[in-house]
Amino acid sequence: MPISASQPQHVLVLNCGSSSLKFAIINALNGDEIISGLAERLGAKTPSIKYKFNNKKTLIELAENEAHAEAINTLVSLIKEHHLDEHLIAVGHRVVHGGEHFTESALINDDVISAIKQASSLAPLHGHANLLGITSAQAAFAGLPQIAVFDTAFHQSMNEVAYLYALPYKLYTDYGVRRYGFHGTSHFYVAGQTAALLNLDINKSNFISAHLGNGCSVCAIKNGQSVDTSMGLTPLEGLMMGTRSGDIDPGLFNFLTTQLDYSAQQIDDLLNQKSGLLGISELSNDCRTIEEAAIAGDKKATLALDMFCYRLAKQIAAFMVPLQRLDAIIFTGGIGENSDIIREKVISQLLYLGVNCDKEANLAARFGSQGIISSTSAHSKAVVMPTNEEWVIANDAARIAKEL
Ligand code: AMP
Repeated sequence: MPISASQPQHVLVLNCGSSSLKFAIINALNGDEIISGLAERLGAKTPSIKYKFNNKKTLIELAENEAHAEAINTLVSLIKEHHLDEHLIAVGHRVVHGGEHFTESALINDDVISAIKQASSLAPLHGHANLLGITSAQAAFAGLPQIAVFDTAFHQSMNEVAYLYALPYKLYTDYGVRRYGFHGTSHFYVAGQTAALLNLDINKSNFISAHLGNGCSVCAIKNGQSVDTSMGLTPLEGLMMGTRSGDIDPGLFNFLTTQLDYSAQQIDDLLNQKSGLLGISELSNDCRTIEEAAIAGDKKATLALDMFCYRLAKQIAAFMVPLQRLDAIIFTGGIGENSDIIREKVISQLLYLGVNCDKEANLAARFGSQGIISSTSAHSKAVVMPTNEEWVIANDAARIAKEL
């Protein structure tokens, strides 16, 4: 049945990780969050679901080893209990890897599932979890259209000069080895919001957006399109992150295997789980903890922050090559939205781009507020823009559901 414009348009947004499931029901018309929650430790000893509804937080304990399907069943009961099913028009799934197949969000059918499976070879852990979420939700919400929204899709506008690795070309043509980029929904969203904030036409604007959370990436956005981004075949490439190393010399692999007897799995673990802010600070992957330690005089915490900011500034400067002209640097993600320390340290290394940092505006931009943190005289602006990937997913899902 067609969906009328006057009808509330609620979308269940699911973000399925290997042992977690983030969910929210979003009003696609205005981004309002009706309910949101997180199922954690799925398939382990003490799985649980915590959720927020009507400003009240509730914790539900699941039985030992219960996993995604049971979490989704509990979610269905919750939705029914609170009568939230009445206005649901679609389920939107965050899918990490869409390979080259998906340049935009897609209504899930058998062909789309096979294409997601194919792309999953490039990100097996994420891909498997995403597919599990999709099949469980299809069983639980059989009457609703299910839509996949890809982290990689926004970056499909990159050209081959930007997306190819300087490897034998056949690795690309035969196995899809190339740079894909991630955090696409976030970069897309904050660019649109920043254009509105600065009163610029998105189709005539040049932005560099820095999504800084546990995972971090930078994106060069020209006329509303991604022209380059720092993550690559996997989310490991590019910036220093919470536990990921970012760029390293690939010669390290040979050293670790021949000299230190590392296995491929151990190297993967080292680079993804034990490096980044955690590896250097030897303290935490959490930016807040590291900032507190640095303020208290911890030298390795200070070094971790300095490296994080230096590498980030270097990557932003490099993206002036495809952009040539810069309207604004955008900070988003948990760190970008909250850490005045990181923002100030990064901007202070980029003054030659015509950007600067206004101390008071920088201190004021936190806890989900948006704002311009450069002075009025700055040639290029610095902006803090809270991301909202769920809303992008809800919007896309509602748009596709309405076309049916
Ligand atoms: P996300 O993955 O987007 O949730 O971001 C998580 C990161 O944001 C963690 O490193 C947090 O320490 C960091 N973060 C959250 N709030 C703050 C804050 N007030 N100051 C500094 N970092 C923060």
